[in-house]
Amino acid sequence: TIDLRVYSSRLLGADPALVLLGGGNTSVKHDVPGPLGGQVRILTIKGSGSDLASIDSSGFAPLLLDELLPLRERSRMDDETMVELVTLALINSSAPRPSIETLLHAFIPLNWVDHSHADSILTLTNQPDGEEIIRDVLGNDVGVVPYIKPGFDLSKAAADVYEADKSIIGLVLDKHGLVTFGPTAHESYERHVELVSRAEAQISQSRKRRVTSMFKASDAATQMAMRIRGGLSRRRRMIVRFDGSAGSRAFVDRHDIFEISQQGPATPDHVLRTKRVPMLVSSSDPDDVLSEIERYEAVYSAYVTKHAVPCDDFMHDPSPRVVLVPGLGLFTSGRTVREAEGVAEIYRHTMDVIEGATAMSQYIALSEADLFEIEYWPLELYKL
Ligand code: ZN
Repeated sequence: TIDLRVYSSRLLGADPALVLLGGGNTSVKHDVPGPLGGQVRILTIKGSGSDLASIDSSGFAPLLLDELLPLRERSRMDDETMVELVTLALINSSAPRPSIETLLHAFIPLNWVDHSHADSILTLTNQPDGEEIIRDVLGNDVGVVPYIKPGFDLSKAAADVYEADKSIIGLVLDKHGLVTFGPTAHESYERHVELVSRAEAQISQSRKRRVTSMFKASDAATQMAMRIRGGLSRRRRMIVRFDGSAGSRAFVDRHDIFEISQQGPATPDHVLRTKRVPMLVSSSDPDDVLSEIERYEAVYSAYVTKHAVPCDDFMHDPSPRVVLVPGLGLFTSGRTVREAEGVAEIYRHTMDVIEGATAMSQYIALSEADLFEIEYWPLELYKL
């Protein structure tokens, strides 16, 4: 069973349009021999922080399902209590920390559950009439769960939507992602691919797929990268990567770039890597970059002050992770090359989702307050 769970998790993880860098999670419910004879029911779920594309059995955490199911009877539960109770259900003390979406998997009664933040699903949900669009495209095959921060309340709401119509093959979590389930690994995976493909087919009707080709960085891009790196490295050394591909260029050169780029990420946990919004460089003079970075940081600090509760005195590094430069392309930053590349990878998918949504209607993201909650939420920080 675990081998099959590893296999189909990797299949999902192998497609970057479905799962990006640690995003998404999978689980299976199965019986194992109990210590006193008989069988015990186990939920084996992806641990927080591991990557589905390369996961092996050690990336999963086994939990006693009978310890988790009664939690659904509670009317409320704070995050710390949830983590504590979920951890108590672990049967292997050396297992990784179970996913923060564990209870969602537990409360769905089907054995196999797959969850992703698929681009095409986010393209549909992140529009003004997202729910109607989902209904048009996916019909009654899915239930729609309104946006709720991951955790206990979302898990209960998802289970309620499933129970209201057990004929559904999946749940769309508004502005967050897709969950499919089934009696076998194969069915759950096939349903995932089926729903994502239907969403993709709809989007490509509104949009001609763009052709991407990589250009060599021009002198102007190199100059700009140096200025950005200098501006970002005032506190500590940062790496800057440049993507001047045709796709990125077409995006940054859009006439509505300000409006579309300042909405927010496609799914909440991207906020941890890309920040809520990219910096959009408005001047073509590289000498202005430093003052634009300072302005971005001031706006970021104001955002933290506005949403933080008084006892919080912690702020992430206020500088931008994504910098969009019209005429050049996409710049991303990180402490390492790998981190900067990871940010670029996520933002390329964000651009894709935005292009798709705006081709159909308009792109919208979660509110500033909802995203702040995720960006400064201790449970999400474990992922980093
Ligand atoms: Zn998720």
